[in-house]
Amino acid sequence: MRLQFIGTGSILSASMSASALVDGKVLVDAPNGSLKAMRGHGLDPLDIDVCLITHFHADHFFDIVFLFLEQGLRHARDRELVLIGPSGFEERLERLFEMAYPDTYAGIREKVPPRFVEIGDQGGEWSGDGYRIHAMPVDHTVPALGYAIADESGARLGYTGDTVLCPAVEKLAADCPTVVLDTSFPAEGKFGHMGLADVEPLADRHPDVRFLATHRDDDVTRSSRTNIVFPEDGQAFEIDGAATPAGPGAP
Ligand SMILES: [Zn+2]
Ligand SMILES: [Zn+2]
Repeated sequence: MRLQFIGTGSILSASMSASALVDGKVLVDAPNGSLKAMRGHGLDPLDIDVCLITHFHADHFFDIVFLFLEQGLRHARDRELVLIGPSGFEERLERLFEMAYPDTYAGIREKVPPRFVEIGDQGGEWSGDGYRIHAMPVDHTVPALGYAIADESGARLGYTGDTVLCPAVEKLAADCPTVVLDTSFPAEGKFGHMGLADVEPLADRHPDVRFLATHRDDDVTRSSRTNIVFPEDGQAFEIDGAATPAGPGAP
């Protein structure tokens, strides 16, 4: 499994808003600017077959319109685009599309076409395309999901999305050798997010887990804990039993 960060920042950071791509085809979150950023890293948005949305805040969701335009404006998919996210996904997308490009959704939808997998507050699972994806509710200011993504080789990746430290985060750390974590702030967490004051004790409790800190304000840059990594936009990691930096940049 290859994980590449499209963005690693928070809403107000210089880096792009947090999102990541697994194996070039599973996009985790579609924040503002993420589809353009993919192109900037030499990645093709046409290759995305599955998109996981953690929650419907704009810095995780608003580029979903552009994912549809990338795949349906000048192209037509030959199979469904799988869209996994919290309950209400389909209806939210329709409303967002109507605001963004009135009266265009029906035509684009025919060419994409989407298959929505909406996850309720009990969590859920989806399998397909060689992946098994387990969605679990996390604790943010709106309904939000964390994901555990496993492939057929046994690689396992955890991805918290925006959340405070909660049982689902502990579970991801217990189950996955690599976990991408909301680390918005240099000290205490606030506003429904974690800070290093949450992440460092978590890293101490799970010394064999590699934590990839993302959704970072610009002043979240370092830790004394060696199992907390601060990736840059575009940086890629090989995910298997343990995360190993695969070097920065595009393929
Ligand atoms: Zn949020
Ligand atoms: Zn966010």
